[in-house]
Amino acid sequence: MSEIHPLANVVERVKEYTKNNISSSVIFDLDGTVFDNRTRTAFILREIAEKFEKKVPALKNIVDRFNDLSLFRYDLSETLANFDITGELEIEFIRKEWEKRFFADNSQLLDVPLSGAKRYVDRIHAAGATIIYLTGRDIERMLVGTTESLRQFGFPVGIIGTMIIQKQDFNESDEFFKVNTVNYIKRLGKVVAIFENEPNNINLLKHHFPESDCFLVKTQHRPDAPNLEVDSFEIDNFRY
Ligand SMILES: [Mg+2]
Repeated sequence: MSEIHPLANVVERVKEYTKNNISSSVIFDLDGTVFDNRTRTAFILREIAEKFEKKVPALKNIVDRFNDLSLFRYDLSETLANFDITGELEIEFIRKEWEKRFFADNSQLLDVPLSGAKRYVDRIHAAGATIIYLTGRDIERMLVGTTESLRQFGFPVGIIGTMIIQKQDFNESDEFFKVNTVNYIKRLGKVVAIFENEPNNINLLKHHFPESDCFLVKTQHRPDAPNLEVDSFEIDNFRY
């Protein structure tokens, strides 16, 4: 018999806990994990390009090629360099306009789920684990959009066995925020698996939840990210 896929194994482990009446949870990061948010930046940059083309003529480079996702990087300056926009003042101007739009409820509806993500989260949910969407997005600007975006793609949200945990304050560092939630999550039962695109968060969370299976989703991560220091599976999407 062929070996069980690590993603399928998580579902089986959850089922086993549920059968024995033991609470379990699975942690899903959102940006770069459940969702590919390059599309958010693509649409935002096109909007900025069309609005400010006269003021910043270099922006016309974006309009024609905004739909080539391979040009979009974690770092906005790198993305702009791919469109031959390298002037400091231009980058600064575009960054300000981009930030206003990127961290906002409406624009999260422009994200696209990774392949297989919805079906996989459904399977985990049906198996009986609490789905914890753990994200560095802040509630002030992004809670409504986060909820709506999950709902629009059919992810379980707002029902039994689901929760969204976001930052109260945008300026809290992602790592600090995630550590603060750890003790709470521990009380919810066994954390069976963790899905993240940032190696740093995997290192940190695995330390607190040694029994969990960790999955690094290979989308994008911070340019200065550390190496993975713990055992984890690397996946491109949620299909198996
Ligand atoms: Mg992320």
